[in-house]
Amino acid sequence: MNANKKVKILATLGPAISGVAAVRQLVENGVNLFRLNFSHGEHADHAQRYQWVREVERELNTPIGILMDLQGPKLRVGKFAEGKVQLVNGQSLRLDLDSTPGDASRVNLPHPEIIEALQPGMSLLLDDGRLRLQVTAKERDAVITQVIAGGELSDRKGVNVPEAVLQLSPLTEKDRRDLTFGLELGVDWVALSFVQRPEDIIEARELIQGKAFLMAKIEKPSAVQHLEEIARLCDAIMVARGDLGVEVPAENVPRIQKDIIRTCRQLGRPVVVATQMLESMRFSPAPTRAEVTDVANAVAEGADAVMLSAETASGDYPQEAVQMMSKIIRQVENGPDFQAQLDVSRPEAEATASDAISCAIRRISAILPVAALVNYTESGSSSLRASRERPKAPILSLTPSLDTARRLSVAWGVYSVVNERLHKVEDVTRTALEIAQAQGMAQAGDTLVITAGEPFGQPGSTNSLRIETLR
Ligand code: PGA
Ligand code: MN
Repeated sequence: MNANKKVKILATLGPAISGVAAVRQLVENGVNLFRLNFSHGEHADHAQRYQWVREVERELNTPIGILMDLQGPKLRVGKFAEGKVQLVNGQSLRLDLDSTPGDASRVNLPHPEIIEALQPGMSLLLDDGRLRLQVTAKERDAVITQVIAGGELSDRKGVNVPEAVLQLSPLTEKDRRDLTFGLELGVDWVALSFVQRPEDIIEARELIQGKAFLMAKIEKPSAVQHLEEIARLCDAIMVARGDLGVEVPAENVPRIQKDIIRTCRQLGRPVVVATQMLESMRFSPAPTRAEVTDVANAVAEGADAVMLSAETASGDYPQEAVQMMSKIIRQVENGPDFQAQLDVSRPEAEATASDAISCAIRRISAILPVAALVNYTESGSSSLRASRERPKAPILSLTPSLDTARRLSVAWGVYSVVNERLHKVEDVTRTALEIAQAQGMAQAGDTLVITAGEPFGQPGSTNSLRIETLR
C-alpha cells in the first residue's frame, strides 16, 4: 500500500492515458482516485477508462474511487471544422444556433437561453476567461460579437456570461443520460457542476438514489453564498477554481478557497482543490514556481485532495505531473510546522463518542510514535471524523464494504482495506495487527491505535480504543 502521503490526488483520465499499465503507473505515482470528465469524450471512452481503473484496483488490491463529473449547465461553443481557430482582437465573431462546424467568422453556441439573455454591451468569457468577446448586435437566433481579447479557440471550450442571469436546472438532459450511464457502470462518486442552491443537491440525490456519493462543485457565486447548507447536504466539495475564477473576480478565489476548506473541515466533508494546479505541465516537464506554491498552499490550508485536470487528461506529461504533485505534498507534510498549522485551524469536536475518540487518537499519535490508527468502519463515517482531526499517523480503515473503501479514497490521511465483516472488538484487534503488518504500515515493535464501535455496523457507534504493540 502506497500510504506515504496524507493529501490525496484526484486525476482526470482522458486521451493522454491509454491502457491498464499507464493507469497503474499513475496510481503508483500517487493517484488515489480518478475523474471521468463527462464534458468530453463518448460513453464508450469512459467505460473503457472505468474498466482500466477497476483492473488496476484488482491488480494492486487497493480501493480506488471513480468520480463521474457531470458537465452541468456549462455553456460551451460548438466545434470548428479545423478543430480550432485563431481569433484576433477587433475582428467580429458570430455565435449562432447552427450546429455546422465553425470557422474564424462564426461558431455554434448551442444554448438558445443565452442567445436570448445576451444584450449588446455584455461580455462573454471563453476558455476559462482566456478570451473575451463583447456583444455588439443581436439577431433572431444569433449574436454578433467583437473580439476584445483574442487567441486560440478550440472545440467545445467553455463560455461564461457573468452579467446575464440564466434560468438553468443543475442537471441538463445530457447530464441525466450521462448519470444513468455512469450509475449503471458503477461509479462511486458523482460531481455536480454549477450548483447554485441547496435544492440542486436535493434534486441530484433523488436521481442518484444512494447509488453513488455526491460531490458539489463550487463554481458559482450563489453556491459560495449557500456554502454551508450545500456542504451539509452533500458528501464532499470541490473548489472548482476554473469557472469560479471567471464567475467571480479571480483575485477573490484564494480567500474563497480558504473559506470553503474551513467550512468543509468544520462539517467533516472532504474538500478537493481543483483546476490549473500544475497547468503549465500540460506542455512542459517542469511546473512554474507559482504552481508549486499553489499546490503547497492547498496542502498547508488543510485540503483533503488536490486535482489534476488537463495535466493528466490531455497533457504531454501526465506521469510527471502526478510525480511532481506527490513530491510537493510530501515536502509540505514533512515540514516542521505542518501539524502545528493544521492544529491552529482545527474545528472543535462535537459532543459525540465518535468525536471524543477521534480527538483522543490525534492526541495519542502526537504523544506516542504511532504507526497507524486502525479503525473498523462499515459506513466510513468514523474514518471521516478521525480524518477531520488531521492526526499525525495515517488512518487505516478496515471495512467490509468496497463502496465505503472507494468513498474514503478522497479523505485526508485515510487508507482502506476491504476485509470480512467483523463482529467483536477482539476480532478487530487481531485483524488490525495482521493487516497493518501485511500492508507494510507497521513492523514488530510498532504501536497501533485501534478503534471500533459496538454495536457493530451502526454508524457513529465508535466507543472503544486500544493501544497495541505489534509483536
Ligand atoms: P470543469 O470543472 O473542469 O468541469 O470546468 C472544474 C472547474 O471549473 O474548475
Ligand atoms: Mn467548471
